[in-house]
Amino acid sequence: MPSNKPFILEVRANEYTMRGGNLNVPWTPDEIVADAVACAEAGAAIYHFHARMPDGKPDHRLQTYQYIVRRIKEQSNILVHPTLGAIALAGTAQERLANVEALCADPATKPHFAPLDMGSTNADVRDPESGRFITEDKVYTNTTKTLKHFATRIPQLGLKPYVMSWSVIYTRQIEAFMAMGLIDEPVYLAFNLAEGHSMAGHPGTIRGLTSLLDFLPQGRRIEWTACVHGGSLVPLIGAICQLGGHASIGLGDHPYIEIGSQPSNADVITWAGEFVRMCGRAPATPNQAKELLNIS
Ligand code: ZN
Repeated sequence: MPSNKPFILEVRANEYTMRGGNLNVPWTPDEIVADAVACAEAGAAIYHFHARMPDGKPDHRLQTYQYIVRRIKEQSNILVHPTLGAIALAGTAQERLANVEALCADPATKPHFAPLDMGSTNADVRDPESGRFITEDKVYTNTTKTLKHFATRIPQLGLKPYVMSWSVIYTRQIEAFMAMGLIDEPVYLAFNLAEGHSMAGHPGTIRGLTSLLDFLPQGRRIEWTACVHGGSLVPLIGAICQLGGHASIGLGDHPYIEIGSQPSNADVITWAGEFVRMCGRAPATPNQAKELLNIS
């Protein structure tokens, strides 16, 4: 087991999370930029964000993404991973990739990663307390044709795909794409575990994670990371360290008030970095992450 391999800490800065659990979820472009710079100083190698309106609603405008990526790159060498930023649950493959294509037209706004969610699922929001569904018709659709477009286009743009598996079925699709030469090694593979309001992934438990790892394609160079959408990564991070993985963590998934009062993303990264060091690994610098993932 590569126990001393640098540990990539990726920030899951905000998703579309509101501020009921933690007031420090960054929303405005300047909040996101300041958050990314602080997270880099705290030891994060990659910063994943969604542009948001001042009231927290999704902001899909290209100019907002251009502003954020440009300002982060001016102030930090942290690797940048925006969401596709177009229509999350609909749109053609070309429409969904349009913002990323435009960001790549200028080196100053070119990110390092684009997401590749390797399957489809019901993505309804459920109230964990009452057990009732708040939405009943949200399907996150990624047809094989769409995924082939993304998998081809993302490397052509000079970006690393952030290949996401929400279940074993997604992992099988990843393996099939690797066999077809559509996903190159080393793969950066993110396991999207799900808790709380989301049932779209495996549970955010050791068993939920290891049942995904059981189906990791063998004999392939894969650097895997894990997040818990709607839940805490705290109970898993020791196991992830030992099993040779990396972590994607932040206020977008969970308020993390168990590690401090209203922590910022940088506080969460500082906590995770200290934990990882106690487990015998060290947080990867952005350059070490580039080396592990073969990003030029
Ligand atoms: Zn996201």
